[in-house]
Amino acid sequence: MIKINNLHKSFDQLQVLKGMDLEIEKGKVVVVIGPSGSGKTTFLRCLNVLETPTSGRVEIDGQSLDFNERVTKKNVTSFRRLTGMVFQSYNLFPHMTALENVMEGPVMVKGMSKSEARAKAESLLKKVGLGDKVDDYPFQLSGGQQQRVGIARAMAMEPKVMLFDEPTSALDPELVGEVLKTMKDLAQEGMTMVVVTHEMRFAKEVADEVIFMDGGVIVERGVPEQIFDAPKEERTRRFLNKIQ
Ligand code: ADP
Repeated sequence: MIKINNLHKSFDQLQVLKGMDLEIEKGKVVVVIGPSGSGKTTFLRCLNVLETPTSGRVEIDGQSLDFNERVTKKNVTSFRRLTGMVFQSYNLFPHMTALENVMEGPVMVKGMSKSEARAKAESLLKKVGLGDKVDDYPFQLSGGQQQRVGIARAMAMEPKVMLFDEPTSALDPELVGEVLKTMKDLAQEGMTMVVVTHEMRFAKEVADEVIFMDGGVIVERGVPEQIFDAPKEERTRRFLNKIQ
């Protein structure tokens, strides 16, 4: 589903991604861990071209962008639709209800009829456990509920891959579980997911593969048992010792 070749990203003189290669199969859940500043967020943002990679090639579901050449805006726009992104901050439109937030993309971007978009949004909100909150505004919802609206909103665009950038970091501890549960449900439905998170329990329970990044490269990757219980690389061991 995803193929990444020699991905580089610099901000001026600062080299953040220093050549990443990765393939992710359809339906897999990949959790990306690593120290702060190692480039995890930048990596995710490059996957949906919120950041333009400096060089390298990214392919998702058969569509590719080669950043060694010039990419056109049109290609970027269609490529971006392949992924749905969930951010640390929920970024909901404050003046719209939960339902309207989820309907917005399908109506405005995809040109879906309002009635169809409404039915879809209702069913997605029900799926994330918010069937009784469709008419609430963001300020009436808890952080966990807002984040679940965020997930429903991303899903409404029918992405091939869901990208999660520390989706539970801004939440009070008692609200983390409900968001992780929603993500787990998505994973069980076969969604391909790339998740940057500090939630090691989620990684252990849900990830098919864990990637440890440091200094803009993939230091080590493997199934959760291998990475957490028997890491091969010293850098991985040191990181895990610090956080566990
Ligand atoms: P992580 O998610 O692993 O904490 P980030 O990808 O957020 O790491 O950041 C990696 C490095 O890139 C950091 O040094 C950060 O300051 C830098 N960086 C990220 N975004 C920008 C930007 N838009 N402009 C300049 N530097 C950036």
